[in-house]
Amino acid sequence: MAETHADPLQDCDLAIVGAGPVGTSLGILAARAGFSVTLIDARLENPVTTRDTRTFAIVRGSWRLLGATGVTGELADVITPLNGLEAEDGGTHWFGAPHVAFSNDDLGGGTGKDALGQMVPAAALQAALDRQTAAAQGLTWLKGARFSGMETGPAGAVITLENGQTLRAGLVAACDGLHSPVRTALGIRTEGRSYGKSVFAADVTLERPHHGIARQLFTPEGPFATLPLPGNRANLAWYMKGGAAEALVKQPKAAIEAELNARFARFAGEMHLDGPPLSYPLVMQVALAMTGPRTALLGDAAHRINPLAGQGLNLGFKDVGALIDVMTEARAAGLDPGSDTVLSRYQQWRRFDSYATAMSMDLIDRTFSNDNPVLKPLRGIALTVANRVGPLRRAMARQASAAQATMPSLMR
Ligand SMILES: Cc1cc2nc3c(=O)[nH]c(=O)nc-3n(C[C@H](O)[C@H](O)[C@H](O)COP(=O)(O)OP(=O)(O)OC[C@H]3O[C@@H](n4cnc5c(N)ncnc54)[C@H](O)[C@@H]3O)c2cc1C
Repeated sequence: MAETHADPLQDCDLAIVGAGPVGTSLGILAARAGFSVTLIDARLENPVTTRDTRTFAIVRGSWRLLGATGVTGELADVITPLNGLEAEDGGTHWFGAPHVAFSNDDLGGGTGKDALGQMVPAAALQAALDRQTAAAQGLTWLKGARFSGMETGPAGAVITLENGQTLRAGLVAACDGLHSPVRTALGIRTEGRSYGKSVFAADVTLERPHHGIARQLFTPEGPFATLPLPGNRANLAWYMKGGAAEALVKQPKAAIEAELNARFARFAGEMHLDGPPLSYPLVMQVALAMTGPRTALLGDAAHRINPLAGQGLNLGFKDVGALIDVMTEARAAGLDPGSDTVLSRYQQWRRFDSYATAMSMDLIDRTFSNDNPVLKPLRGIALTVANRVGPLRRAMARQASAAQATMPSLMR
C-alpha cells in the first residue's frame, strides 16, 4: 500500500526534535551506542539559509565529545587552538588598567601544552555534524519535518508532525532551541530576561598576531572580543545596544570598518572585515525543569545564557554526554531509559550546573556592562585579584574549560 502523509513512522528508542549542534551530536552518539534514533528538524537542507558568522569557543571536554561524533578530523583546517584568555576593563582606575589573563598552564596537572579549547566556526561545525548525521547507522533524519504536538503515556510518547504523521518513541529529546515547541507543549515554564542588546559578529583580519589568545575589552555596553582564527584573522563579538548592531550590519563595509577602528583600534590594532557581519539578540532563559513525561530538555531548549564567556553550547554538550550516560546505564540495568526514575537522574546531574552558569554569566554582565560609580572600582579590583591569585585564576580557567571530574564519560 502506498504511504500517505498520515501513516505512522517507524517506532524508535529516541526521538530528537531539533538538528542544531546539540540535536545532531546527540543523534550520532545515541545511534552509535545502539539506540534507534529518529531526528526531526524543520530545516530543509544543511546547514542554514543565512550563514552563521559566529565562532564558538569549544572547551576541552566538549571537543572530546565532538571527537566521539567523528567531526574533529574534518574540522582540522578551520579550527584554532585557544591558548589563553585575556580580559581588560575599558574604564580607568586609580590602581591602573585592571586585566586578567588565563593560559593553558592554569589548568594544572598537565604539561601546559594542551589548548584550553578550540575556536570553531559555527557554520563549519554544523555542516560537519550534518555530514556525520547523514552517514550515521541506526538514525533516520526527517528533514523539513515540523513538530506540532505530543502525547505521553506509560508505554512511550507519540509525536505528531505538522503534516499529520505520527511517531512513537520511548524517550523524546527536546533540542529545539530557545523557543522550544516541545517545552511549550509540555507546559514547562521558563525564567530569564532580554538584555536589550545584540552581538555584532564578523570575521576580520588583524594587523598584529593573536598567538591563539582570545581578548576581551569590557565597555559600559558590554564586551568587545577578538577570538582567534587561523592565520592573522579573528572573529569579533561586539556587544551593542538593541538596534545598533542590527543597523550596523546593514552599513557598507567601509563604514563598518571606520566605526570599528574608531572605537577599538587602540585595543586590537587596525581591523579589516573578512566576510559579512550578522547580529544576534541577547537573551537569558532557563527552563524551570529539564524533564517532563518521557522527555529530556537539552541545549538552548533548557538554557539560553549570556554568551560572554562562550559557555552556552558547552553546557549543551554536557547535557548530551549526561543523557547518553544515563540512557546507557539504564539499559545495562534493564531499566526503561524514558522512565521518570532515569530522567530524574539526568535532571539532578544537569540542572544545577546550567542554572548556576546562566546566573553567573548574568552577574558578570550586570557587573561589567555598566558605568555604575560603585561597581566600577569593584570590578577592577575583582579582575586584579583574579590575576594575582593563582589558585583562583586556575579554578576559573578549569571551570571554563570543563576539565572536572563530574563530566560525562564522553567528555573526560
Ligand atoms: C552571539 C553568540 C555567541 C555564542 N558563542 C558561543 C561560544 O563561543 N561557545 C558556546 O559554547 N556557546 C556559544 N553560544 C551559544 C550557542 O550558540 C547555543 O548554545 C547553541 O547554538 C544552541 O544549540 P542548540 O542545538 O541547542 O539549538 P539550535 O541551534 O537553536 O537548534 C534548534 C533546532 O531546532 C529546530 N526546530 C525548532 N523548532 C522546531 C520544530 N517545531 N520542529 C522541528 N524542528 C524545530 C531548528 O530548526 C533548529 O535546527 C553563543 C550564542 C550567541 C548568541
